[in-house]
Amino acid sequence: MKALVVKNTGSWYIVRTDAGDEVPCKIKGNFRLKGFRCTNPVAVGDRVEIDMRPDDTAFITKIEERRNYIIRRSSNLSKEFQILASNLDLAVLVVTLVNPATSTTFIDRFLATAEAYNVPALIAINKIDLLADDADGRALLEAVAYLYSSIGYPVIKMSTVTGEGVSELKNALQGRLSLLSGNSGVGKSSTINRLVPGAHLRVGSISDVHHTGMHTTTFSEMIDLPGGGAIIDTPGVKGFGTIDFERGEVAHYFPEIFKMSAHCKYNNCTHTHEPGCAVLEAVGDHRIAQSRYASYLSIIDDSTEGKYRKPF
Ligand code: GDP
Ligand code: ZN
Repeated sequence: MKALVVKNTGSWYIVRTDAGDEVPCKIKGNFRLKGFRCTNPVAVGDRVEIDMRPDDTAFITKIEERRNYIIRRSSNLSKEFQILASNLDLAVLVVTLVNPATSTTFIDRFLATAEAYNVPALIAINKIDLLADDADGRALLEAVAYLYSSIGYPVIKMSTVTGEGVSELKNALQGRLSLLSGNSGVGKSSTINRLVPGAHLRVGSISDVHHTGMHTTTFSEMIDLPGGGAIIDTPGVKGFGTIDFERGEVAHYFPEIFKMSAHCKYNNCTHTHEPGCAVLEAVGDHRIAQSRYASYLSIIDDSTEGKYRKPF
């Protein structure tokens, strides 16, 4: 029987059959991913084959090929990986410009990772109510929204307090499977509570910083949206986790840099110092944002230092 994995509790999974029944399952068989150790081989979002036994136990026996998946290390130094979610239609990053201010580096790393995973990304700028009486804040909001929408990322300005932008976000999520990410305190729980009446997620709960460095296992859950579609909630996960970029690939994950790189003089240009570099020229005259270029350089630095090792 075919089913969809809707929850991972660590020791078992809950799947939803095509008839709409939710069935707890264990795993049977060998689901190791090639090349790296994985603590949880089955992910929320997986389409699976299940085997129901007469004694009412059920086993996942097969995982259908994934369109995409997101993965992270089980802990900072661990060699083990966890697949957090699969078959995503959209990755939503909730950010705020104040209280707290999300760094552009964080945003850009998230977007580059989404590009690498082949998941379309959307930016939701929350808490815009806090900028209403502040001309500089409003100007910053417009600048940030323009920056990302001009690159091609949909941007929604919203407030879970006033409700502005919430219906726009609802429309964007309609009928899709979306991952919701963001630093703690930006309003992810408040957003889910707005979108899903009855979700009752705890707002302002203790942040996950206390668990940093520990062997934290995070279990994802699919939360159905009233109008169709679902959100995957991965408690304690701010972004996608660590991705291991190859130095030469980084530019591919910055669409505007990649587009410009077609005009560089050398086709192995790293866009750092080369003569005839179209990217450097575009940064110089503000056709490419300085903040985006700085994020590009910071990812390149990491991959040069070997901070991000390629595990798979
Ligand atoms: P999470 O950590 O991302 O899940 O964030 P929460 O949903 O727990 O919200 C963190 C804090 O921000 C809480 O005190 C919320 O009441 C507050 N908050 C959430 N959304 C908004 C908003 O749109 N405007 C304002 N002013 N505060 C918000
Ligand atoms: Zn170049």
